[in-house]
Amino acid sequence: MQQGLLIVISGPSGAGKGTICRALRRFNHNVELSISATTRAPRRGEREGVNYFFKTVDEFKRMIEDGEFLEYAEVYGNYYGTPKSYVRERLMEGKDVILEIDIQGALSIKEKFDDAVFIFILPPSMEELKRRIVKRGTESEEELLKRFNSSYKELNFINRYNYVVINDVVEAAARKIDAIITAEKCRVERNKDLYINYLEGLEK
Ligand code: 5GP
Repeated sequence: MQQGLLIVISGPSGAGKGTICRALRRFNHNVELSISATTRAPRRGEREGVNYFFKTVDEFKRMIEDGEFLEYAEVYGNYYGTPKSYVRERLMEGKDVILEIDIQGALSIKEKFDDAVFIFILPPSMEELKRRIVKRGTESEEELLKRFNSSYKELNFINRYNYVVINDVVEAAARKIDAIITAEKCRVERNKDLYINYLEGLEK
């Protein structure tokens, strides 16, 4: 069985990463979304163990010390981290695992996993991004500004990613990510065992 793909998705807050991933899951049942731990307070409607595992700063620091994270970073003044065991187990089962994480986290995954796939999600325009964050209505004025300003800085890192997907229509963006997953699984370097078997057959 082929081990699952590790897929890293980043992009500005409000680009619609979460919405796209949920849309993808509706038709691609081999994809799992990793649930991160965070010290950020839950937003209206967010649930423990569904959106995040909500932790105190002390709990989070203990998890760092115990080596429980694949990566972690401080984003907008809060800690966020990817639990190691869940991701490892799903990949071994052949599931494709999506990490929806910030750029610092993505770069740290890049150092550890050279076969992970990196996708950057962009909104159709920066005006639309602003409109979406304001409409979401979950952030204070200060938080909003922080997120919007950092979006511009994040754009400088796009060239560290393998693919860029513009989230104009959610369903279409999800289909593109599905196509990326399919194409990545067909890469020669991911199928060495397969063609080595063929070559051995030829030599006989
Ligand atoms: P939010 O507070 O809007 O849910 O997330 C803020 C930022 O933290 C987003 O860019 C999101 O992708 C990122 N993030 C969420 N979970 C993780 C994680 O486990 N690790 C890292 N490095 N970033 C994360």
